[in-house]
Amino acid sequence: MADASRLLTRLSERVFVDPSDRAAFVDALQHPQPEPPAVLWLRDRPAELPWAALPSLPWQPPFVDRLAPGTRPGQHPLHEAGHFYCLDFSSVVASSVMGAIAPAPQVVIDLCAAPGGKSLFSWAAFQPSVLLCNEVVRKRVKILIANLKRCGVTTARVMNLDPAAIAEPLAHSADLVIVDAPCSGQSLLAKGQKVPGCFHPVTLSRNAKRQKRILANAAALVRPGGYLAYMTCTYAPEENEQVGSWFLKQFPEFEAVEVAHLATLQSPLADWPCYRLWPHMGLGAGSFTALFRCEPISPAQDLVAAPFPHDFVQQYSFEIYA
Ligand code: SAM
Repeated sequence: MADASRLLTRLSERVFVDPSDRAAFVDALQHPQPEPPAVLWLRDRPAELPWAALPSLPWQPPFVDRLAPGTRPGQHPLHEAGHFYCLDFSSVVASSVMGAIAPAPQVVIDLCAAPGGKSLFSWAAFQPSVLLCNEVVRKRVKILIANLKRCGVTTARVMNLDPAAIAEPLAHSADLVIVDAPCSGQSLLAKGQKVPGCFHPVTLSRNAKRQKRILANAAALVRPGGYLAYMTCTYAPEENEQVGSWFLKQFPEFEAVEVAHLATLQSPLADWPCYRLWPHMGLGAGSFTALFRCEPISPAQDLVAAPFPHDFVQQYSFEIYA
């Protein structure tokens, strides 16, 4: 515990210059407060909400409501009926980079999909004609399917493959690839959960390596002119800015996209556009997010959907409505 506390202090010193920011950050992790939950509407949003909603932020998508801390929307019958999905507002902030994508992507691949929050966000935002939700950990596939089904995401297909097995068969076919990467999960501390070893250098380096491997496979899936959204729920720069910098160097055909509504959350730890929500900002436990765009080969090919290999998907995906 003393070691964790020492590593946390060291992290705060690396990510903040201002001592009062450092202290507020450490305090948010050591004394977790209830976070404002959010709901993501997938079916009709009632004109009158059953709960008190907090005022919308200027950029907040119309299909998201931010609720007062302590609200438990998951217990409402509309949840069971699939009208909405509950998520942390940090996930809304991270997913909101999708708001900088236009026109709406038609083919979306979510490589790390369970339990389904980012896939559902992309569905609410774009209603893509193909939404491919992949989850490599087999025991997590069930909850992913259950959430997609409950929320009526009719065109989604679910896969249970390592991203490396998808990269080649579906190469350059996606308008948007989402990598909500497995990470050291440091922000779970701000929710009052225990995450042993989450500050340990070995944990950070193992997660950074895994994220690089997933991003390299994700890059292969993006078609020219398409997008790659990369996000985590951890604070360590080794897994966020440093992985993103590695990615931009390894894949020079990608550039980081400025997301205007997140400008105030620009990470001071990078010289390219990427964004940080910190746990002491009162909006959630914290997240990192960035949007990369693959350069179009020519303006004529910009956002023209490449033929999608439906046979591969048919063969390797679960029929969620079986
Ligand atoms: N996107 C999800 C959502 O919004 O509900 C949360 C995803 S969670 C942060 C990361 C996911 O990556 C987990 O479901 C985990 O099982 C999966 N994962 C773990 N190792 C992986 C790997 N090597 N490649 C791809 N995904 C992996």
